[in-house]
Amino acid sequence: MAEIQLRNVNKRWGSFVGVDSFDLTIADREFLVLLGPSGCGKTTTMRMIAGLEDITEGDILIDGKVVNDLDPKDRDVAMVFQSYGLYPHMNVYENIRFPLKVRKADPAEHDERVRRASAMVELDDFLHRKPAELSGGQRQRVALARAIVRTPSVFLMDEPLSNLDAKLRVSTRAQIKNLSHELKVTTVYVTHDQIEAMTLADRVVVMKQGKVQQVGTPTDIYDNPANTFVASFIGSPAMNLMDGTIKDGTFTGKNVEINGLSAADGEVTLGFRAEDAGLAEAGQKGQITAPIYTVELLGDAVMLAVKAGGQLVSVKTTKEFRAEIGDEISFAVPSDICHIFDRASGERV
Ligand code: ATP
Repeated sequence: MAEIQLRNVNKRWGSFVGVDSFDLTIADREFLVLLGPSGCGKTTTMRMIAGLEDITEGDILIDGKVVNDLDPKDRDVAMVFQSYGLYPHMNVYENIRFPLKVRKADPAEHDERVRRASAMVELDDFLHRKPAELSGGQRQRVALARAIVRTPSVFLMDEPLSNLDAKLRVSTRAQIKNLSHELKVTTVYVTHDQIEAMTLADRVVVMKQGKVQQVGTPTDIYDNPANTFVASFIGSPAMNLMDGTIKDGTFTGKNVEINGLSAADGEVTLGFRAEDAGLAEAGQKGQITAPIYTVELLGDAVMLAVKAGGQLVSVKTTKEFRAEIGDEISFAVPSDICHIFDRASGERV
């Protein structure tokens, strides 16, 4: 059981700021995901929690105790990396048992604990294989079993799914979610994949260039992005963003006019999600009329991209919809589904 606090945590290398004033309390048993593009400081933040990286300024507390100067082995954290980190000369059983030996757990318990951990990740039948004789997904499950074998206070996972193919990623993701539900261990999980973040997290921290952009539940972040960066990073496709001006409640951009907005006059970026826009009723004109650029069949829906005002805009529609590239369509963007951001700062208004 562990609460983790980051108090004004900074990491600098010379004048380069890797992590900038990170402040957050991660609740006991919470599944927290650090999300952001390459180089935004996710791994560095996690390595500071693990004790693998010095903190330039600030404090990290685990269960109320400052751990800044504590060795990784004294922090009771277990880590899973994308590169598995298995010992090639040991078989699966020995790899999973390794942390118990290092931590000098009671040898009488080793066998039962290894078998319990391997059963949880469905590796019972592979205990005598060497890592080289396993698939990528099986190796990643060995790494997971090795992390859970000694029930640490904190799990730290750095892109554990990124070496797996798309199908295995989905099934291993489900397994991680299920394990975390069963084990109830505070987990910090690093990824640049917003779908992984949305599906796994209790809360997501979105980072950019070392700075926290927003902290919230997946629904919060999806429904109320704090700025245009978060709006464009979360969701597939990303939120449509259009520059324009609001005057007397009317947004005017290139090729688009939307009335009835309750926002102050000014230069703004207006956002809406593909699924919130709808095709205009037959014979009526919506707020955007433009030629279709692509039609993508998703199985349960059709995703259109239209070229409006020189930019591509995504619109999701029903699976029955049929149209050709180049056909002109008109769709409605109701004022109540629009997100408004200040043009200069990108912040939500
Ligand atoms: P990725 O998804 O690519 O792993 P990340 O968000 O995890 O990215 P970090 O590895 O935390 O990013 O790196 C944050 C920034 O700090 C990057 O710009 C990186 O180049 C820089 N950085 C990391 N380690 C060092 C170091 N030892 N010396 C100088 N700069 C570093």
